[in-house]
Amino acid sequence: MVFKEYDYDNKPIVEIVNEMMADAVKNRASDIHFDPTPDKLKVRFRIDGDLVDYAYVPNAFKKNMTTRIKIISGMNITESRLPQDGAIKTELEGKPLDMRVSALPIVDGEKVVIRILDYSTSLQGIDNIGFSDVNLEKVKRMLEVPNGIILTTGATGSGKSTTTYAMLQRLNTPELNVITVEDPVEMKIEGLNQVQVMAEIGLTFAAALRSILRQDPDVIMIGEIRDNETARIAVRSAITGHLVVSTIHTNNTLNTIERLTDMDIERYLLGTALVGMISQRLAKKLCPKCRGSRPATEYEKLVIKKAINLDIDNLYMPVGCDDCIGGYRGRVPIHEVCELDQEIKDAITNSTPKEKLRSLVYGNNKTISLLQDGLKKVVNGLTSFEEILRVIDIETDFGEGDEELRMALLGKIKADKDTEEAEEVEEPTNVENEAAVQVEIAQPKTNTAKAASTKSEPINPQYEIPTEDKLSFNQEGIDFGEEMSYDDFDDDYDY
Ligand SMILES: [Zn+2]
Repeated sequence: MVFKEYDYDNKPIVEIVNEMMADAVKNRASDIHFDPTPDKLKVRFRIDGDLVDYAYVPNAFKKNMTTRIKIISGMNITESRLPQDGAIKTELEGKPLDMRVSALPIVDGEKVVIRILDYSTSLQGIDNIGFSDVNLEKVKRMLEVPNGIILTTGATGSGKSTTTYAMLQRLNTPELNVITVEDPVEMKIEGLNQVQVMAEIGLTFAAALRSILRQDPDVIMIGEIRDNETARIAVRSAITGHLVVSTIHTNNTLNTIERLTDMDIERYLLGTALVGMISQRLAKKLCPKCRGSRPATEYEKLVIKKAINLDIDNLYMPVGCDDCIGGYRGRVPIHEVCELDQEIKDAITNSTPKEKLRSLVYGNNKTISLLQDGLKKVVNGLTSFEEILRVIDIETDFGEGDEELRMALLGKIKADKDTEEAEEVEEPTNVENEAAVQVEIAQPKTNTAKAASTKSEPINPQYEIPTEDKLSFNQEGIDFGEEMSYDDFDDDYDY
């Protein structure tokens, strides 16, 4: 993206604002920020999760610009001391454009943020939102179940709403009565009965749900399970013959089970009701136009071998071109799909300790962990090793029985520090550590940064990295989406 210098003296502010919005959409931005500073108004775009400077508006035009945005978003322009919300509905090149606008008075003026809502991803259907083959099959099986709860979990901005909408789209058939309760209703979908929560008049998630149950529903979508009462109604709806689809703000499968059991729901009901859980993260996608390759470090080889049992020599790396930002363009979802079998259900009911539950969930490759799904996408060149380490929580995202892998991952800290002198590893503090360190230094180090070559395809003896036309792993003809934005449905509006 190019930093833009506008001719503020000669170009009408109306045109500048329009051009800014058009540029934001063109650059796949999810948000436009207007930040007042003492000497200017800084305009930034959020692209693939990161803010990038776009333009600086001189102080003399600051007020005009803010006022213009407030006018088109239906705000009160005479009020600048209180926060306000607004919306812009417009068209860009024939495509409808929905924007949500927020103004917040800060000490240097009013900060305005425009969120651009993009529904294109969710409407591509469950087959096209980046699930691996194995995971997609599991999700489809879950959606066949007539009653129970399917949860999508992830932090703010993990794309969990996108996945939820894609699932709803599959359930949206004339034979089923689908009712949603959302806060806010992001996108109106034909065929669904959507209820907007209005807590200020007492229409909370829980209140809406109680009424929905009298509306003969087959499928109920709950925007988010936030409190005990909502969780209890969700579970009760599920065991009385409804399919409940919802989201919850947790990290992974085990976390979700813990969180739900903390929520004061009877464990035996929970065990019965839960059908499956989809945990999700978003990693930045390597730009297919410029990505290069480099030899993998011993540490990376070790982690990939331990996690997904592949021997690799090279890895893709970000390079950077006019089409991307720092070698990345768009995002790739990383999933963990846990389908609950009777064993896991019983374990939940019987309050089985976490470590036992962990081996039931991940043992025998029953559930592909976030780390494993992520590393497969690394090997396939969709994202980079660094990105996966950034989005995965090493402490919680993999389990017991993976002790070697855990040590390999934690050894990372050492590998980074001692890239130059790998021999000089600190004295290991315990036996397990020692083992890991020995694995780490058993093989000669390759200096990756220097050996990096651009634009060549890695050649791995045992696993061929697909070239671009067969990019996606385990899937055919799936494009992870140049135009896709996982920033839609604004998980960020959770507050
Ligand atoms: Zn590029």
